[in-house]
Amino acid sequence: MIDLRSDTVTKPTPEMRRAMAEAEVGDDVYGEDPTVNLLEQRAAEITGKEAALFVPTGTMGNTIAVKLLTEHGQEVICDSRAHILDYELSMTAWFSGCLIRAIPTEDGILEWSQIRPLVKPVHPHYAPTGAIEIENTHNMGGGTVYSLAAIREISNGAHELGVKVHMDGARVFNAAAALRVPVEDIVAPVDTVMFCLSKALGAPAGSMVAGPAALIDKGRLLRKRLGGGMRQAGVLAAAGLIALEETRTRLSEDHANARFFAEGVARIHGVELDPRKVATNIVVFDIGATGLTSGELSRRLKQRGVLINGIGHSHMRAVTHYDVTRAECAQAVETLAEAVARVAIN
Ligand SMILES: *Cc1c(COP(=O)(O)O)cnc(C)c1O
Repeated sequence: MIDLRSDTVTKPTPEMRRAMAEAEVGDDVYGEDPTVNLLEQRAAEITGKEAALFVPTGTMGNTIAVKLLTEHGQEVICDSRAHILDYELSMTAWFSGCLIRAIPTEDGILEWSQIRPLVKPVHPHYAPTGAIEIENTHNMGGGTVYSLAAIREISNGAHELGVKVHMDGARVFNAAAALRVPVEDIVAPVDTVMFCLSKALGAPAGSMVAGPAALIDKGRLLRKRLGGGMRQAGVLAAAGLIALEETRTRLSEDHANARFFAEGVARIHGVELDPRKVATNIVVFDIGATGLTSGELSRRLKQRGVLINGIGHSHMRAVTHYDVTRAECAQAVETLAEAVARVAIN
């Protein structure tokens, strides 16, 4: 099977498995796991933040960050296809007691001029804005990347109004590879950032939340409250360290593969896709004109050995990662062309 469903499907590398077997561990709830402590220290250094916290999932990381930056009864502004809105079981409401104020966008990328009119002050009728959340890269937007200028403008504007900014940077290292800048430069203006070790970086599990030390200390308690206090978690952190130090240097290979795949797919009759818009490892394309629904096309592809998920009725999302080669991307394009061509004959 050529698996382009997500970059979460990668298996740990032999090097990760070795590091996991040999990891020095302790009880992390006591703060005594040296490998977790090292991972948290490295994550803080690499993001340029004071401190970082190892969490089991990105969803828990976002949940903790939103809680740290808001109070019950506030609003969180984000784009209308944000992961925190669509895929996190309403944790913003459930755990933080906040409403989401969603802004529709073309490609998931917000501008300050869209956000500013929706920032609400304390007022007898309004839920005041507590935080702004930006997703970088934007998953459903097709792996799109915020410019450094846009992040700075949003953060400066928000901070002037006393509003905090969280970056859902599940794939922020892909953004860094696309812009060819250190991740530190991307996240410098925001208050907190969450990133996943388990996505493109290839670790079997785990995400990090980074930010000011006082917030991360509080975050440690919220993690425990959510059931995320793990014991000898160094076994996982050991793989996370390899993901963080080594996998991130090869992400541009995934981006080149995604662009190559997109160029092939764009030539298929009935597919709508502009390969020039593919900036990272995610390719979203419209198959509405093929006469197939995304579910039907996924089934046809699976019969032919290729896994690609649909988004809604008429779109597909393919994600490249270190477990798919250039040759497999070429094979996936051919398979897709064949699966779509059959429709005309039927
Ligand atoms: C995957 C993802 C998350 C959450 O990560 P989990 O580890 O699956 O909980 C958050 N945000 C974005 C943009 C993601 O793609």
